[in-house]
Amino acid sequence: MQRPTLLLLLLVFTISCNNPKPTASVIVHGGAGYVSTDDMTEQQEKEIRETIEKSLQKSNEHLANGGTSVEAIQIAINILEDSSHFNAGKGSVFTSAGTHELDASIMNGKNVQAGAVAGLTNIKNPIDAAIAVMEHSPHVFLIGKGAEEFALAHGMETVPQSYFYNEDRYIEHIEDLDENNKKFGTVGAVAIDKNGNIAAGTSTGGMTNKRYGRVGDVPVIGAGTYAENGVGGLSATGHGEYFIRNVATYDIAAQVKYGTSTLDEAGYHTLMKKLKSQGGDGGVIGIDKYGKVVIHFNTVAMPRGYINREGETVVMIDQE
Ligand code: ASP
Repeated sequence: MQRPTLLLLLLVFTISCNNPKPTASVIVHGGAGYVSTDDMTEQQEKEIRETIEKSLQKSNEHLANGGTSVEAIQIAINILEDSSHFNAGKGSVFTSAGTHELDASIMNGKNVQAGAVAGLTNIKNPIDAAIAVMEHSPHVFLIGKGAEEFALAHGMETVPQSYFYNEDRYIEHIEDLDENNKKFGTVGAVAIDKNGNIAAGTSTGGMTNKRYGRVGDVPVIGAGTYAENGVGGLSATGHGEYFIRNVATYDIAAQVKYGTSTLDEAGYHTLMKKLKSQGGDGGVIGIDKYGKVVIHFNTVAMPRGYINREGETVVMIDQE
């Protein structure tokens, strides 16, 4: 073989080793906050770990069978929404009025389509409503009664507000009535499918004792959720106002898109430098264009887990 041909082959081989072809992977979070395993009973920790693992496994099974990343997000988030351990769906926190108002969003990196809903009071799985907005409407963001009407028209399951009742959340609500509450627990997922399509989704009950129809970052595309093929996908959790002001997930993506940062470096910069210096607490999970998972949070804990491109399953709660 000619020397230049050999060198070219070597170059191609080196590039493809450093930038492996993406294979399916999925990552989820259960909210960054101030509850570490030291503050949980063994039973709570066990149930949280099991729910995260189930969410990952079901979602990954679907990806392994050729399912899309949007479907994988829906499967992963539905399992977390149906658990009372997370501040989303069933486990949603109380508003100051003693009610529940749920927000969610989804973004499909394949075509940069997105869907979001805010202030839902009786939809069991808000992520389903966000996906329906993305797939069956010309809009991106629906709120309140209109969003519920749309969700109903698209066959979403409804529940009474009592479905969201949870004693621990009720105590948080009563005890923190006049305080700036700092308990998080939002859920989110990012997945890349066999075709390299990335999607991200996030679902939340918002912040305890929120007032005046407050909506956080979760349904704001580019703040709590962002996905774009060739760049990466991201889902955030934390004090939503900081994530909105910093357009946090898009800020991370933009550093990759227009700069030289990796998704991991960009996530570190936005969470650990930028938001932290402003007093913004929270975390972010992501998957880059090669299928590599990314995790950053500046709080004591963030229940999280992933099945990476090597097929390895990891579930963690505290800072490592
Ligand atoms: N980011 C959510 C919000 O501000 C809260 C959370 O992540 O727990 O509504």
